[in-house]
Amino acid sequence: MPHADNSAATLFIDGEWRTAAGGHTREIRCPADGTLVATVAEASRTDAEQAVAAARRAFDDGAWPSSSAWDRGDLLLRVADILARDKAEFARAESLDTGKRLVESEFDMDDIAACFRYFGKLAGTDSGRVVDTGTPDAISRVQYEPVGVCGMITPWNFPLLQVAWKVAPAIAAGDTFVLKPSELTPSTAILLMQALTEAGLPAGVGNLVLGAGAEVGSVLAEHPDVDLVSFTGGLHTGRTISALAAPTVKKVALELGGKNPNVVFADADFDTAVDFALTAIFLHSGQVCSAGARLIVQDELHDQLVDEIVRRAERIRIGGPFDDDAETGPLISEGHLRKIEDYVAKSVTEGAVLRTGGGRPEGERYVDGHFYLPTVLDEVQQGSYAVTEESFGPVLTVERFTDEDDAVRIANDTHYGLAGAVFTGDPAKAQRVANRLRHGTVWINDFHPYLPQAEWGGFKQSGIGRELGRGGLGEYQEAKHVYQNL
Ligand code: NAD
Repeated sequence: MPHADNSAATLFIDGEWRTAAGGHTREIRCPADGTLVATVAEASRTDAEQAVAAARRAFDDGAWPSSSAWDRGDLLLRVADILARDKAEFARAESLDTGKRLVESEFDMDDIAACFRYFGKLAGTDSGRVVDTGTPDAISRVQYEPVGVCGMITPWNFPLLQVAWKVAPAIAAGDTFVLKPSELTPSTAILLMQALTEAGLPAGVGNLVLGAGAEVGSVLAEHPDVDLVSFTGGLHTGRTISALAAPTVKKVALELGGKNPNVVFADADFDTAVDFALTAIFLHSGQVCSAGARLIVQDELHDQLVDEIVRRAERIRIGGPFDDDAETGPLISEGHLRKIEDYVAKSVTEGAVLRTGGGRPEGERYVDGHFYLPTVLDEVQQGSYAVTEESFGPVLTVERFTDEDDAVRIANDTHYGLAGAVFTGDPAKAQRVANRLRHGTVWINDFHPYLPQAEWGGFKQSGIGRELGRGGLGEYQEAKHVYQNL
């Protein structure tokens, strides 16, 4: 078995581990200190095309798509067991690639195992439905069938979680797939392919290509033999993928970015609101699609709340993935760090008030990593760059509102619609606001929890389609109507 840290035979095509056709490799370095984590294969278009051909053959052969959904469910349950058994290895690999704290990676691995368990149990429970024809002389049913070959393209912030949300329902549905994880964080995808093989996934059903998006990912988006492209990543890349997929009219599922409002009413429990406002934005240094990047606070609470958030943000300890005292970690790359610097500079030029942060931390432990201080930008103006663009970093913007209508209007004033939260001591108001928010997930007096059995996805330009839940399985299925004249 190859391992991410000692072999460049890290493409998995048609049941075999291979090096890239052109012999190219890529070094993976830990964002916290630049240490070399792995040297992996850097695929070319040829590799990606071979992977698509393998997935196509495995689907058209017919054995896999017509296999028992219960058996596929059992396979997923075995994967969950392997993930639980090898959790330490997976979590360590994830933390080395992302720089994320080990405790967060461990938490993610539990969620990933739960995702495989959920789809393992869901597979086979619902194959379709009988439809009333209105006459005794005919019978009719709608049956769910696999979509076919799926191209999967995923980001670096939750590398294996985003993969699991696609791979588990695809297997449950009986699809075959080619996975292209982020070129920055491939290690746990490699480990997952090993786990799938150990669990009994037939050759060709699951294929892995590693490499740059424009080179390798684009093949999955445009190839006529790919029936569905499922993408998680940034809005701009999502638009590119939609355009690449259009000529072949394949199904497209998009999980894109967010600029997520966190609405705090004056009657909210103060300590709860402060705690969640901090974790909402500073978890994983803000590199979370559903991060609570926009604090929208009722006028009369503004000063007290923001003062406390600033005070607490200044005490957040920053460090590497294995530093026991660290509360948050680095950004993924030097390029991403520079983007955050530009974002803050531009926001301040536009009139935002920098309350804390706004730079790199000082000290020996930070010199080789991509660290940025927890940052709070106060008094940002509606419609400004600071509140419309996703920073994807540890930057909290603060806006004020007067009453309930004003809060809803401001929270919905974004072209994104991924997630939002409302903090209030009034349960009826919480429900009213939750119902009016145009966002795919709404939390009340909480932030970030999600469930594998509940759909996840975006309104507006945060995406198309849903992951997780029954709807998440549906993305990987076609509905066929069979009508018989008796
Ligand atoms: P990205 O769009 O830069 O890259 C995502 C993936 O797309 C990578 O695998 C990349 O190689 C590939 N890619 C890039 N260009 C491509 C092209 N032309 N053709 C095909 N593939 C291409 O995003 P990122 O920086 O890796 O991730 C951060 C973004 O992901 C943020 O915007 C974040 O909000 C979003 N995200 C959304 C969710 C969600 O559930 N909605 C979850 C996680 C991350």
